[in-house]
Parts: sequence; structure tokens; C-alpha cells
Amino acid sequence: MKIIDQVYIDGAFVTPHGTELFDLYNPATATVIGQVRLGDETDTRTAIAAAKRAFADFSRTSKEERIALLDRLADAIEARTADITEAVIEEYGAPMSRAAWMADYAVGTFRLAAKTLESYEFIRQIGTARVTMEPLGVVGLITPWNSDAGFICGKLAMVVASGSTCVIKPSEMSAIQTQIVTEALHAAGLPAGVFNIVNGRGEVVGAEISAHRDIAKVSFTGSTATGRAILRAGAETMKRVTLELGGKSPMIILDDADFAAAVPFVLGAGFMNSGQACVAGTRILVPESRLAEFEAAIRTAIARIKSGNPREADTAIGPMVSQRQWDRVQGYIAKGLAEGATLLAGGEGRPDGTADGWFVKPTVFTNVRNDMVIARDEIFGPVLSIIPYRDDEQAIEIANDTDYGLHAYVAGGDETRARAVADRIVAGRVIINAAPMEMNAPFGGFKQSGIGRENGVFGLEAYLEPKAVMG
Ligand code: NAD
Repeated sequence: MKIIDQVYIDGAFVTPHGTELFDLYNPATATVIGQVRLGDETDTRTAIAAAKRAFADFSRTSKEERIALLDRLADAIEARTADITEAVIEEYGAPMSRAAWMADYAVGTFRLAAKTLESYEFIRQIGTARVTMEPLGVVGLITPWNSDAGFICGKLAMVVASGSTCVIKPSEMSAIQTQIVTEALHAAGLPAGVFNIVNGRGEVVGAEISAHRDIAKVSFTGSTATGRAILRAGAETMKRVTLELGGKSPMIILDDADFAAAVPFVLGAGFMNSGQACVAGTRILVPESRLAEFEAAIRTAIARIKSGNPREADTAIGPMVSQRQWDRVQGYIAKGLAEGATLLAGGEGRPDGTADGWFVKPTVFTNVRNDMVIARDEIFGPVLSIIPYRDDEQAIEIANDTDYGLHAYVAGGDETRARAVADRIVAGRVIINAAPMEMNAPFGGFKQSGIGRENGVFGLEAYLEPKAVMG
């Protein structure tokens, strides 16, 4: 049993004022593996006050000093990547290769922020005005459970780059990962108060951050419903917000696509992070003329995808993070059947060979209509919907007929045509033919997938406010 009974405030690990103990699970065995003592509103206010004190000096650090700090943070996280990987497998259930990628990603966020900062000009002349890009103040960072280290580090990297300070509230379900990340960040030796990390419930610590008058901005990654609550709570004090929310991303298969390449692209994008990914490509738009051929190819490929023990090297899909998440995914599979969609693979219940953990069968429905619940709601599990379409115009129309706009994917033989389709999709990012991700490109969504962008210059400027001085 791991007991995590401290939070991190003003450069030190301290016992929180909050006393609630929260159980931590291994989702592969559905057993309790630890407990975290949660902070409360008092801890949150103490952390905000520490960040406010630290801001006075930290906001005046030079670009070169901040680049040096970002390098130190990257090195400190890098020194703990093995521990982070192990915690991600144990507490989140990510398959081994994914868990290792997640740890490396966390290191990369600091290196990329340092690179962005190197070429960024904080002072510009606009006519007679000298315009300076000013740090915002104390920022609240609220993160979900599906990539704990990555979200903490990615948001903190931009706070440090901008010269602001912060209070971080990670998901209460990821406390073992958070503990290792916090120890690593502490070892980097930043000035006390620049970052504070308070474990706690969303409706307690998160709500306090979202409403407190000394918080200038909230950067949040999580569900659209929580994003709305944060936006409402922040309105009173005009908080700046970056909201990275849910998605229901389309994957358009054009009729000239090579299925040998498209099928792995579809399953990779759909089942990434065990399907618990905001960017998962979950609506697969397939031309009617090639539907039967595509279904046969998916059926063959999915038979080779193993959902099971995350510690086995050939596992592609690990367990769902919690009983609640397992129930939710099962509920959507049942809903798909009830709505009349055709089950092509998977279905309700656990995969063969798994027992107690929160495992789900990789599931694909076909003959799905875009107005069915399984095509509209973010399921956040390995459940995909094949939606047939007539021609490119209809594919684009269906792709854009969603409340979300985070990500999209296009597979096709003719790159010019694929790009023309990509240009008409309303989404923050579009990936054509499994192109590698450009990490410094802006990341974020249109419509109810959120507000604002993260990463690179766009991400940095989300933490800066222009100030013009004339005369
Ligand atoms: P969630 O919204 O339930 O929780 C996210 C965080 O918000 C947690 O730390 C939680 O404690 C906190 N929270 C809950 N209620 C709050 C409140 N009233 N005020 C302030 N904070 C509160 O989301 P989750 O279940 O942890 O994560 C899954 C969701 O996150 C999915 O919808 C997914 O699409 C989304 N997500 C989005 C991105 C993105 O970059 N767009 C990335 C990953 C996950």
C-alpha cells in the first residue's frame, strides 16, 4: 500500500489541512494499491498565496534564466522516467510501450518550451508603442487522469516560460504518478512557490481555484461538462481560460485509400491510450462502395489486437481506469446494440483470458448513423463507429456534424485531394495518412472541444498579455 499524505506548497512537502483519504487502484486487478490524503479549500488558498508571493520575483526573471530552469526541469523528469513509466502502468493501466512514451513526452514538454522561448520576442515596437508581453500572475492548472505526467509538465512548462507562477490540481485518481513527478520537479530546485501541487477533489480544490480572485487564469484539460463549470466560475473575476475538452473525432477514409495502410491508421488512432484519448478517431467514415471490403479488413486486423494485461509486451489495449469508466463504456456498447448498429467486433463484457480488471473488448460497430448516441457522445473507451457515406461532400458534412472539433484524420491515395478534404474539416488538428505529430504545432479544439491553444508560440502567448506603452 502506498500512502501519499503530503501536498507540495511553497517549495516543501507539507501535511494538508484536508483529512479525506481517497483510495487508489490498480485497474488491471481492480484492487486498492494506495491512499492519498486530499487537500481542501484551506490548502488551496495557502498554495495560491505562496504562488502570489513568488510571482513578484519570478515575473522579473530573464528569458535566459527561464530557459535554464526549463532545462533543469527536463533533466529532473528524465532522471525519473523509469519510475514514472512503472507508476503509469500500475496506477493507470497503460500498456508498457504507451507508458514509456508518456514519460518521455513529459520530458519533451520542457525541452520544447525552452526551444520556443529561445526565439520568442517579448518586446515589439508597433508604431510609436513599445509593446511588452507580460506574464499573467498566478495560474491554476487542472488536469485529468489519462496522461498525468504529460499534462502537469506540459502546462507547467508554459507557465515557467511565461514568467507566471501556478497552483496545480492533478486528478485525484493519479496520485502515485503525481507524487513521483512532484519529487522530480522539486529536485530541479526552482524558487519556492513558483509551482505548488495540491491533490484534491475537483469540486473542492478545483472549484476554489476556478473562483479565487488571485487566480488570473485557469488552464484546464478534462471533460466538456467540467470545462463549462470552470468557465462559469471564472466569469465573476474575468479569468483567462484555456480549455482542452472532449472530442468525437472523424476519420475519413477516401475511396482511393490503400486499406493496407489505412486500417492500421484507423485502429491506431481509435484505440490509442486504450481508447481513453481526447483525440481518438472514433467516427470512421467509409465510402459505401468499399464498405464490405473495409469491414472485412477491420475484422481481420482487430482479431490480432490484444486487450489485456498491460505488462505483456503484445498488449495494445489496457484496462479502463476505473469501475465507473468500465461501466460507462459497457453502457455505450449496450446503447449501440439497442440503437440498431451492427456489431462488427467485440461487444459487451470482458475479453477472453482477463478476469478481475476493468478490461474491455476492442469493439467496432458498423452501419452507424451519425445521429446515434454512440456517434455523438464521447465514449472514452475502445469503441469505434463505422458510418457509411456516399461521396466526399457527404463525408465532410458528416465529419463536421458534431458538437466537437478537436481532431480529425484523413486517409487517401491522392495527397492533394486528401488535403483539400482536410482543409474543410472544422477541427484544431487534422492528420493525413498517419503523418507524424508536430509537437510544437498548436493543440486545441473548435466548438465544444474547448477554448484556446496549447504548445509552441500559440501556447506560450496563451499565458501572456500585451501591454502598450507610448511616449
Ligand atoms: P473531468 O472533467 O472529470 O476531470 C478533470 C479534472 O477536473 C480533474 O482533476 C477533476 O478533479 C477536475 N474537476 C472536476 N470537477 C471540477 C470542478 N467543478 N471544478 C474544477 N475542477 C474540477 O475529466 P476526466 O474524467 O478526468 O478526464 C476525461 C476527459 O478529459 C474526457 O472528456 C477527455 O476528452 C478530456 N480530455 C481532453 C484532452 C484535451 O487535450 N482536449 C486531453 C485529455 C482528456
